[in-house]
Amino acid sequence: MATQIKSWKLLFVSTPVGPLGTGLGGGVELTLHNIAQQMLHRHHQLQVVAPANSTWEHIPIVQIPGNLQIIAQSQKRTDAITMPENSLLANMWDYVREVESEYDLIVNFAYDWLPFYLTPFYQRPIAHLVSMGSLSNAMDEIIAQVGKRFPHTLGFHSSHQADTFPGLTQPLHILSNGIDVSLYDFCPQAKQQLAWIGRISPEKGLEDAVALSQKMNIPLKIMGKLQDESYWQKICQDYPQAPMEYLGFLSTTQMQKIVRECRALLMTHRWVEAFGNVAIEALACGVPVISYNRGGPAEIVRHGETGFLVTPDSIPGLVEAVSRLDDISRHGCRQQAETEFSLEALGDRLERWFGKILELRVKS
Ligand code: UDP
Repeated sequence: MATQIKSWKLLFVSTPVGPLGTGLGGGVELTLHNIAQQMLHRHHQLQVVAPANSTWEHIPIVQIPGNLQIIAQSQKRTDAITMPENSLLANMWDYVREVESEYDLIVNFAYDWLPFYLTPFYQRPIAHLVSMGSLSNAMDEIIAQVGKRFPHTLGFHSSHQADTFPGLTQPLHILSNGIDVSLYDFCPQAKQQLAWIGRISPEKGLEDAVALSQKMNIPLKIMGKLQDESYWQKICQDYPQAPMEYLGFLSTTQMQKIVRECRALLMTHRWVEAFGNVAIEALACGVPVISYNRGGPAEIVRHGETGFLVTPDSIPGLVEAVSRLDDISRHGCRQQAETEFSLEALGDRLERWFGKILELRVKS
C-alpha cells in the first residue's frame, strides 16, 4: 500500500500544553513521535511545529516560543476558552500561516479551540487528530462545525471517544494507535507486583489502583508525570499502608524495563480515556491489562485473553481480575500488540486518512 503513495510534505503541529519530551502533553507526545517516525520511514517529508525547549532528536522540529496553554482537563464543561498573553498556541499557528504553502497537509495534534476555529482561514487542508473525549461545550461545537464543513478531516483514536462528541457528521476516521513494538521487551515471568502508568491527575483515578494495592498487599509501581501535587499528597495520606513506589516520569526504555516485570498494568481512569497508549505498551511487553470498562481500553483489551475489563470504579472487580491473572497468556498479549498496534499498521491507517483528505481537496 505504502509504495503506491507519492511523497507528501506534512506539517505536524504539536500540543501547546508543554514542550515535547517533558510528559506534559501526555499520550499525545508518544503518538506524535510515533506517527512522525513512521511517516519519515515512508519517505514523506515532515516538519513538527512544537513549543520551545522540546528535546526530541532525529525528528525535525521548529521550536516556537510563548506561554503554554492550560490543560483542557482542568477546566469545566461550560468554561470560556482562554488564551494567555504571548500565546504559544497563537504563535504556532502564525508560523503555520507563514509556511503553509510549502506543505500538502497540516496535521493538528492539539485539543484546543483555536486551530479548529482557524481551519477555514488556511489554504491547505488541516487534519485534526482529536486526542481526548468531549470535555467542553465550546470544543464540542467547533469540532462538530469543522467535521461538517470539511468531511473526513476529523480523526479519533477510538469509537468510544468519538461517541462522546454530540453532533458529529459521518464518516469518522477511527485510527486506534501504534507503537514501535521492538522497543518493548517481552518478559515471560513476572514478579509479584503491579504497574500503574499515566499522568498523576484526578481524571486518571490512581487512588483506586493504590486502594487495590493496599487491600491485596501487592506492590504497585507508579510511573508518570506528576501533574497535580495536591492530588498525589492526598492519595499518600489516604493509603499510608499501600506498598507503592512512585518512580517518576521515565523514558520509554526505563519504563518498559519496570512494566515488563509486572503481573499486570492497572488502568483505573474516571474519564472516557480516548485510547490509552499505556495499554498497548504493556501488552507489547507481554503484560496483561486490567482496565475499567470505559473508553478506549475497552477497544484494546480482549477480555479474558489479554486482560480483563472491569466494572468502572469497582475495587472488588479489580481484586477479582488480579486473582484470575494466571488465566492470561503473556505471549498472547505480546502477539496482540504486534498484530494490531504496530507502527506499520498505524502508518497504513494514517496514509488512508491523509490520502482521503488530499483526494477530496484535489476534486473540490
Ligand atoms: N509515559 C512515559 N513515561 C512514564 C509514564 C508515562 O513516557 O514514566 C508516557 C506513556 O508512554 C504514554 C503517556 O505517557 O504515551 C501517557 O499516555 P496515555 O495515552 O496513557 O494517557 P494521557 O496522558 O494521554 O491521558
